[in-house]
Amino acid sequence: MKSCFFAFFSLFAFSLTAQKDKGYWQQHIAYKMNVDMNVSDYTYSGTSEVTYTNHSPDTLNRVFFHLYFNAFRPGSDMDHRLQSISDPDRRMVDENGLSRIAALNEDEMGMLRLTSASQNETALNLSHEETIVVVDLAEPLLPNSTTVLSLSFEGQVPLQIRRSGRNSAEGVALSMSQWYPKMVEYDHEGWHDYPYIAREFHGVWGDFDVTLTLDKNYTVAATGYLQNPEEIGHGYSKTTPRIKKSQKTLSWNFKAENVHDFMWAADPEYVHDTLVTEEGVTLNFFYKNRPELQENWKNLQAKTAEAMAFFNRHIGTYPYKQYSIVQGGDGGMEYAMATLITGDRSYENLVGVMVHEFAHSWFQHILATNEGKHAWMDEGFTSYISSLCMNELMERNNPRPYVASYRGYYALVKSGLEEPQTTHSDRYDTNFAYSIAAYSKGAVFLAQLGYIIGDEALAQTLKAYYARFKFTHPTPNDFIRTAEKISGAHLGWYLNDFTKTAKTIDYAVGEVSANGDTTTVTLERKGAIAMPIDLVVTHTDQSVRYYYIPLSEMRAEKPNETADERVVLSDWSWAKPSYTFELPIDLSHIEKIQIDPTGRMADVDASNNAFNP
Ligand SMILES: [Zn+2]
Repeated sequence: MKSCFFAFFSLFAFSLTAQKDKGYWQQHIAYKMNVDMNVSDYTYSGTSEVTYTNHSPDTLNRVFFHLYFNAFRPGSDMDHRLQSISDPDRRMVDENGLSRIAALNEDEMGMLRLTSASQNETALNLSHEETIVVVDLAEPLLPNSTTVLSLSFEGQVPLQIRRSGRNSAEGVALSMSQWYPKMVEYDHEGWHDYPYIAREFHGVWGDFDVTLTLDKNYTVAATGYLQNPEEIGHGYSKTTPRIKKSQKTLSWNFKAENVHDFMWAADPEYVHDTLVTEEGVTLNFFYKNRPELQENWKNLQAKTAEAMAFFNRHIGTYPYKQYSIVQGGDGGMEYAMATLITGDRSYENLVGVMVHEFAHSWFQHILATNEGKHAWMDEGFTSYISSLCMNELMERNNPRPYVASYRGYYALVKSGLEEPQTTHSDRYDTNFAYSIAAYSKGAVFLAQLGYIIGDEALAQTLKAYYARFKFTHPTPNDFIRTAEKISGAHLGWYLNDFTKTAKTIDYAVGEVSANGDTTTVTLERKGAIAMPIDLVVTHTDQSVRYYYIPLSEMRAEKPNETADERVVLSDWSWAKPSYTFELPIDLSHIEKIQIDPTGRMADVDASNNAFNP
């Protein structure tokens, strides 16, 4: 099958726009919130004016909001799941393996409820269903029209169990993610009103205008740009504002445009450092004022700028003017224009978590895939690109920086616990199977795509994918179609076989026999998934010869990735379990025949991949 890959590159680059296909639509939202936080009892109340535009072709009679904090109550869905899953998240159970949610007292549990909602001054009927509230609209929202909803809400910040909450293990007072009534996304698949059971978020693209009022001694880190730095100080302005002794609180006004979530954190002991990068992006660093953190958190700052430059180069330009690395939460979790990470780590580990979470700005935030449905597209792509970034930042010079992802994937296959990556993030039988499917197998999906279409085409695909789908909700099909257009290869089979099933890849070198001055070689496909085959033959004089067997279903050949000549053999199709060809060399001159010398094909049994006479 002859078809030149690279001709497609430049052609496609011209047709790129930031638009998805005709017919694509997404909802739009603008939140204007005013929130009072009581730092002595961790209760808060607020109002939210929600301007919601229906770009769908459907009339909407009701809308839904996430009320995530209600997961942190004894007897919640999250609590039940925690108690019934065989491998609970260790952060969520005590030393005896018992649910920390079940042990929460009334004044420690989470709470978030709407106290009222109205549309054009008509009070709306509300149905609170734990982490979702259903709001019946008084006036149906027609296609291509906008409505304004006025909400009042009250909440209690839970003791930190997972991701957000108060009094983290490292003593951060407030890690405020998933804290406000957040509109559920509606798209061509309908409402994504997932109850909060374990993980992964999805939101409506839009704008936030948030005013937070709290104790004046707390430094606030947040999504968006602070609008009143001169009144606030706290590291946001060069001058220290004069605040009267009698004034107990400060009101912080943040605005963020074209994001799909809003996170904030606050602590009276935050150090706030800033670094303006060459690209003019302000990087903020918020961490507890403790001696043991200073050195690593100072050294982290230049590395963060380097990481941004790396992602700009390899994916696309970071589109906001600010990013904040905030000590908080319980590990690392990505949010709009910010991340919450734990801070007391070794330097290498701290850089590693920063790189991973910052990479999510591209693969999750700006390319806002539905994490519930396609967790591998954000966690996997992030794992892949962050392994490349760490390789460069830490000067590791590993030719296969993603190799740990392959190891994880192989361990999952061996365990027998693998489930297809199409499984909803909350529905995997084990946290183990979810984690490896999302992080490791997701990274393998990309690294292995480099094997299939070539690393250069993969690199171009990532950039094209970003350019075309930023600020939307791309799907697996959007990604694979981009790879197809860049490479000229048909790749639907790869998306189907590798992500929608738990089938595996296993090729073997079968019979090798002398045939006069040639050698007859038979390869066997033992796994259910077919692949194109890279093969290298090492001769006894140590010279090598590269061979390539195209996969019929691709209708294309990968460009030669070696510096040497490559022999392209005839196609091999999926239905044929074996493939025989002749090497134009005497068997006695062959030292080794090796399938996939670069190790990018996720072959679950490498022991049969080579022939050594
Ligand atoms: Zn992640």
